[in-house]
Amino acid sequence: MTDDMLDLLITDATLLLAGGVARTTNLGIRGKQIAFIGDERPAAARTLALPGRVVTPGFVNTHYHAGLNFVRGVAPDCGFAPSYTPGLPQASWLNEDEALALSRLGALEALRAGCTTLVDSFVHAEATVAGMAETGVRLFASQRLADVDFASVLEGDRRFDRARGERQLERAAAFVERWAGQADGRIQVHLTAHAPDTCSVEFLREIAALAERHDLPISTHLAQSQDEVDWVRARHDRSPVELLDELGLLNDRLLAGHCIHVDEADIARLGRSGAHVVHIPVGNAMSGRIAPTRRLIDAGAPICLATDTMHGDMIEVMRWTLAIGRLQAGFVADDWQPRDVFAMGTGNGATALGWADRLGLVAVGMLADLAILDFRQLHLTPCIDPLGSLIHNATAADVESVLVNGELVIDQGRATRVDDAAIRAEADRVCQALWKRCPKPLRPYPSVAGTPR
Ligand SMILES: [Zn+2]
Repeated sequence: MTDDMLDLLITDATLLLAGGVARTTNLGIRGKQIAFIGDERPAAARTLALPGRVVTPGFVNTHYHAGLNFVRGVAPDCGFAPSYTPGLPQASWLNEDEALALSRLGALEALRAGCTTLVDSFVHAEATVAGMAETGVRLFASQRLADVDFASVLEGDRRFDRARGERQLERAAAFVERWAGQADGRIQVHLTAHAPDTCSVEFLREIAALAERHDLPISTHLAQSQDEVDWVRARHDRSPVELLDELGLLNDRLLAGHCIHVDEADIARLGRSGAHVVHIPVGNAMSGRIAPTRRLIDAGAPICLATDTMHGDMIEVMRWTLAIGRLQAGFVADDWQPRDVFAMGTGNGATALGWADRLGLVAVGMLADLAILDFRQLHLTPCIDPLGSLIHNATAADVESVLVNGELVIDQGRATRVDDAAIRAEADRVCQALWKRCPKPLRPYPSVAGTPR
């Protein structure tokens, strides 16, 4: 094998290139990168003939809580985020082993759905990050940073604890030192300032300084609920967007999740700031709320996409983004097309993370993080426009194989690095125990007889 030999040559597949332009040709991978695209067939250690398949950049899920799957199927009907909802088990009740089991399931499920990059934040990140990375996914991992006592939040109050904040900042700094660049570069880190109403002003300032020091992205939940806006206004006499701006967080480091309850001044401020709006259409629409995406874009805010507490199907997210934007506009605009939401689900997410030169595009020189969809399906036939079929007709279940860093981590629907049945069974066991600890649970669990398999 010569040095310039490809490690893998994928032939006869339809590639979705920049702008979602489809081209049926061959793609070669050497090491972690895409090294060749063209009609020739250079020598390769392994060749996969994949006619009838569509190759997209892996999806960049920019706001995810892998371990929060224990509220799936229930939380969307409560009308409020899980951390604020009595009757649901709480993340703060989990021990490290439980968080690990749930997070591994969440990571694997999203990876199986073609999400090659997850921007994740959850409790016990120190204990979960290696186990999540073991699935093969690329992670921007973070602890959930908040100096509020979440028990007081459930009672409709906010009590801040300076000592708690200091402990968390110390842990966050240690987390950054320990984990940035691990797992062959697949583990990256960021900071998650939970929300403007669950972090004190001093704490938010310190998170901004820590991010600056280590050149890290910051995730947050911003203007997620009217309650948050009202509380911040009552306490600080300004909107949450205004508050973050004053504290030095509203800039191009910020991945601002939700951005629903924003007024005209907030929208203009977000547009000027360079902050990335993380649009979460499925979960938010289920709660009866939605971000004013068109107005945010018109103001200059870049939009990327995420599944948040819902399952990791970014194809569904792109489809809902397209549909909801059209509902908001009342017509089909030339600049709200499949190519636009495709960019939001791929390249825009990479840009938000500062990785636009490496991720989010099928092109020579980019990292080989790819989702391969089997388009030889009844519901994907005929395929006139591969991008249109992807956005309108495909689902996560059509993802056949997934590569990260050039490695086949999902092959024909099966995880290659971990035991998916064992991960599922362990997470289900943990979830059952967790719901049993819930006083006055909103639902009995399990309600599906015979789980786990
Ligand atoms: Zn969230």
